[in-house]
Amino acid sequence: MNRFTLLLIAATAALSGCGSEEPPQTGPTADLLLINADVVTVDETMPYADAVAIEGDRILAVGSTDEMLAYRDDDTEVIDLEGQMLIPGFIEGHGHYTSFGGSLLILDFRYAESFADIVSMVAEAAAETPAGDWIVGRGWHQDKWSVREDVLVEGLPVHDSLSEATPDHPVMLIHTSGHAVFVNRYAMRLVELDETTEPPDGGEIVKDENGRPTGMMREAAQDMFRLAYSGHQGRRPAGVAEEEMRRMITLAGEESLRHGITSFQDLGTTFAEVDLIRTMAEEGNLPVRLYMAFEEQAADMAGRLDEYRMIGHGNNFLTVRAIGEKVLDGALGTHGGWLLEPYTDMPHSYGLNVVPVEEIEASARLAVEHDYQMAIQGIGDRAYRELLDIYETAFEANPDRTDWRWRIEHAQVIHPDDIQRTVDLGVIPAVQGIFACSDGPWVEDRLGPERTRERGYIFNTLAEAGLVPTNGTDPPVDEISPVASFHCSVTRELPDGTLFQPQEVYSSERALYSYTMGNAIAAFEEDIKGSITPGKLADLAVLSQNLLTVPDDELLDTEIVMTILGGEIRYRDGEIVRR
Ligand SMILES: [Zn+2]
Repeated sequence: MNRFTLLLIAATAALSGCGSEEPPQTGPTADLLLINADVVTVDETMPYADAVAIEGDRILAVGSTDEMLAYRDDDTEVIDLEGQMLIPGFIEGHGHYTSFGGSLLILDFRYAESFADIVSMVAEAAAETPAGDWIVGRGWHQDKWSVREDVLVEGLPVHDSLSEATPDHPVMLIHTSGHAVFVNRYAMRLVELDETTEPPDGGEIVKDENGRPTGMMREAAQDMFRLAYSGHQGRRPAGVAEEEMRRMITLAGEESLRHGITSFQDLGTTFAEVDLIRTMAEEGNLPVRLYMAFEEQAADMAGRLDEYRMIGHGNNFLTVRAIGEKVLDGALGTHGGWLLEPYTDMPHSYGLNVVPVEEIEASARLAVEHDYQMAIQGIGDRAYRELLDIYETAFEANPDRTDWRWRIEHAQVIHPDDIQRTVDLGVIPAVQGIFACSDGPWVEDRLGPERTRERGYIFNTLAEAGLVPTNGTDPPVDEISPVASFHCSVTRELPDGTLFQPQEVYSSERALYSYTMGNAIAAFEEDIKGSITPGKLADLAVLSQNLLTVPDDELLDTEIVMTILGGEIRYRDGEIVRR
């Protein structure tokens, strides 16, 4: 007898005193039944179960398979999950939705094994692209190729095979570093670049022994191609640009569904983007539910925020009620995070205050006035403290309002004195588990060992203090993968096998909570999302194995088997299910 059965017996006895297998005489029937599952509900009133009944877009009931089969009628679809894990759909707690979609729109060469691979991918794209339009890709790195070209200049291929495959299109292939592009003959002609062209200051046009450009453009030499590309994109008719934006929105959502994500919190949108996303929500064309924060100047937001504030718009697909991610500081890796004390490896620098404090204060006043949530980036401990000060001022000026839940995004370095203050203010540090592992290799260089231990990525310390645990991967900054972020959250294992701040691991239960209920709470959505609870939205994910019980070193093998959104199967066995 498992934990669930015990709970069920207790619950049933308490409620009715009758057997659990007696079907309801009348009442609701399920449209979809998920049975024989390993259900982890993230709802403490019934943490484990083995079946879920769904009616319309809501969870109807949770319990044993026998009990749920009582909700079956002739039209009910029944899916036997054969012991696979069923959880609430993951909520991405911090990402950039349209730029994530944009990154999916262009070709991805991260896994290309050779230059020839890349050429054939580009040729395939060219066959579907109108002549004269750009073909753009990203993520190539010559050191990853197992096959070498016959002709190499400075260890890099020359453009001939690429140019022969794409005679009618300009092609720009962005190096994984972002510091170089590789282009074809058409693109070079377009910008009138030839043997005689001198490189711009700070740039290099790589040439072969005969002085012929190879196609490789380093640093500032990229600019003419990037400009030509953005100029071309900008000249397209409005309808084409909108069509492309729709594709980006669709691709971002479908990629989310592939990872079991049913809601995505977008930290930094514009009024124009929301206009289109709102239309798509009303059409029923948003692939995932969105929670959006404006990243606009305070002066531009004033007067427009009321009109744009919406909660659960388009059948709970779109909520706009936050201001973020304006960045108070920069990134830690590039010494931009704003610190209370100087960088250990750059002792003259405290980092950067990017957006002036006064601008954030102006946004905070607007947020109070129009009932928006603030969600501002504070990476360093100084930025974090400044934000607490700004938030506290707003809260104290409005003592009648409670339940603010204003957020500080990333919160990677926090002074111990600010932890209890955060609790007292009801502020939510919106952290990303995966960052501990992607940044782990160099954090100690920046902060020194002592400060790192005390203040760096102290996510479990925050949760233990009573703060809402949150999670995410900030796509497209880090790869969208709740499983990878879960793995880092519970192991803190770096790619080389060493551990970063291992005392700050989440328990498995807390990691799952952070990606579901925690993120729901950070968006005021815990009444409709975050757990498998009757009455909540039927947003669910089926996983190939149980994240809570599988050994740590097998966690990354976990596959998303199915993603259900509002009671509809939207992803199953590797395929997006389109309506
Ligand atoms: Zn971000």
